[in-house]
Amino acid sequence: MFKFCPKCGGSLAKKTKTLFVCTQCEFHFYQNPKPSNALIIINTNSDVLLVKRKFEPKKGFWDLPGGFIEINETLEESTIREIKEELGVKIENIKYFKSYADTYSYKGVNFPTICAVFYTITKNNILPKIKIGDDILEAKLFKSKAIPFDKIAFKTMRMALRDFLSSYVNKATKNDKN
Ligand SMILES: [Zn+2]
Repeated sequence: MFKFCPKCGGSLAKKTKTLFVCTQCEFHFYQNPKPSNALIIINTNSDVLLVKRKFEPKKGFWDLPGGFIEINETLEESTIREIKEELGVKIENIKYFKSYADTYSYKGVNFPTICAVFYTITKNNILPKIKIGDDILEAKLFKSKAIPFDKIAFKTMRMALRDFLSSYVNKATKNDKN
């Protein structure tokens, strides 16, 4: 993916799938995934909040709110920050769900990513509190059975939603019966 040594600018030679070695200074450059986060916001009626992407990649598609981790941030801090930036609300009661490995294509460069998916269960309709940020077009609550899976931006976020709903909604339904 990358051609030049970040230390001296020499050419990188690919040694393995993840290791590139500089032909001039022998610097070892490991290609690692970029960590990212996403948050499943679900209310007690099992409505899920999705955001519509304003920019490429996948402009106009639905997505989970979230983004990339910044330097010196924890996964939790970055998730809380991204939600504040995208939705204008501070949601601190988040719980870890699962992680998903993917590839993010940006301007012709494919970045391997690893996304930590968190979730939060809210009692109230949070839509009136939301003030959408600059990089999304719209935020909307979807009934869990009406999620537009064919219009979700990324395969792994479709997987995350399906995995979460099958475990969470099944559990919630069971609890109702007990
Ligand atoms: Zn070098």
